[in-house]
Amino acid sequence: MHLLNRNTRQWQEIDSAHHLHPFTDHQLLEKTGSRVITSAKGSYIKDSENNEILDMMAGLWCVNIGYGRNELAEVAKEQMELLPYYNTFFKTATTPAIELGRILSEITPKGIEHFFYGSSGSESNDTLVRLVRRYWDILGKKNKKTFITRTYAYHGSTMASASLGGMEAMHSQGDLPLPGFVHVMPPYHYKFGKELTEDEFTVLAVKEIENKILELGQDNIAAFMGEPIQGAGGVIVPPPNYWSLVQDLCKKYDILLCVDEVICGFGRTGEWFGSQHFKIDPDIITFAKGITSGYLPLSGIGIGKRVSETFINKGGEFYHGYTYSGHPVACAVAIENIRIIKDEGMIENVKKNTAPYLQKRMREFENHPLVGEVRGQGLLAGVELVKNKEKKELFDPPGKVGNICRDHCMNNNLIMRAVRDGMMCSPPLSVTKDDIDECIVRLKKSLDLTLSDVKRLGL
Ligand SMILES: *Cc1c(COP(=O)(O)O)cnc(C)c1O
Repeated sequence: MHLLNRNTRQWQEIDSAHHLHPFTDHQLLEKTGSRVITSAKGSYIKDSENNEILDMMAGLWCVNIGYGRNELAEVAKEQMELLPYYNTFFKTATTPAIELGRILSEITPKGIEHFFYGSSGSESNDTLVRLVRRYWDILGKKNKKTFITRTYAYHGSTMASASLGGMEAMHSQGDLPLPGFVHVMPPYHYKFGKELTEDEFTVLAVKEIENKILELGQDNIAAFMGEPIQGAGGVIVPPPNYWSLVQDLCKKYDILLCVDEVICGFGRTGEWFGSQHFKIDPDIITFAKGITSGYLPLSGIGIGKRVSETFINKGGEFYHGYTYSGHPVACAVAIENIRIIKDEGMIENVKKNTAPYLQKRMREFENHPLVGEVRGQGLLAGVELVKNKEKKELFDPPGKVGNICRDHCMNNNLIMRAVRDGMMCSPPLSVTKDDIDECIVRLKKSLDLTLSDVKRLGL
């Protein structure tokens, strides 16, 4: 592909003629054309104009080991030459799919020992919905079908995963959520608990879940599901004991505890999984992104004993699967990716060095006139931009200021993500202190430019 000698303008014209992009307003795209990314190394990506852009999002929260690790390319080539594809249906398996399960069982939360594979986080969350409903069916509890999830949750874009998600804009398209999905308040203290202490707010957020269970009846609730730290919803870090209280509720009312580890999994919080950071033992987890550092599509669902034993001993055939479930090349790449994370001590380095450094440097922005709150954990951080710092007043309607700041970042060769009016980052686990310093310089410049736009436009 790199041999095709086209200039940026030519690539953009072909793109606009033939490519419908995900999460993109095409009328706005027409005005600028796509930025065409051509190569990458470490924490930096390069575009067709040779700009070196600091990617503080690790692609879409996924390039955990960083760009340019040729070990993964070599493993993929080797596996493609040996066995490029075979499926795992009808009593067959491949060696990479078998070995990956063994490796995962050593690092996933306690009790999770069986894995079912897909190719995307959305697929795995769809699998989860079918599996959980089937689980209660096998046990004869035919009414336990409803999922409780949270506003601003992101669980994917398919019909079921977008229903699990709590994004209003997504629900407004395609008649979502489907029946059987209800949403409660997320543990977003800054927005929903302005007048409350952290402890008071925790009680309130957990009480809302309990009220929802009581309102619908525990015999109708299948599971509670959430991301340990909500990512695309705006890096919402729950108060420290929120998750253990949620776990208590699930036990009390006999509801499965399901955790979406698609972002938090594979080292992002400074532990292998976000569940381990919050010290909970979920019944089921889902993962994707970091399992291959995004080098190839692979996802999965990790199933604890309670559910797996029911399926294995009483379930008969589960009529569910994907052509690419346990794809041998993707599994081989995942095994090598996990080996690199382990052998290079990447997670310990995140926990001891880069995460504390990122959190410390980001918090310097607490003094900036536009910044209401800086939050984060591990290598996830968010800077909330507000209209009035003293009154904790957010911009209304939300989104405009965030997008202005995002565009300034991009013009300063820094990729961060705007969520409503917050600026989020989620760099590779391989991010260096120099990368973080560079991010701070570029973000400072972008925030100052945004502040003058806010004043000029009277926002
Ligand atoms: C990205 C994401 C998903 C969806 O994964 P896809 O591979 O895009 O389908 C699900 N859950 C969370 C928390 C995510 O961040």
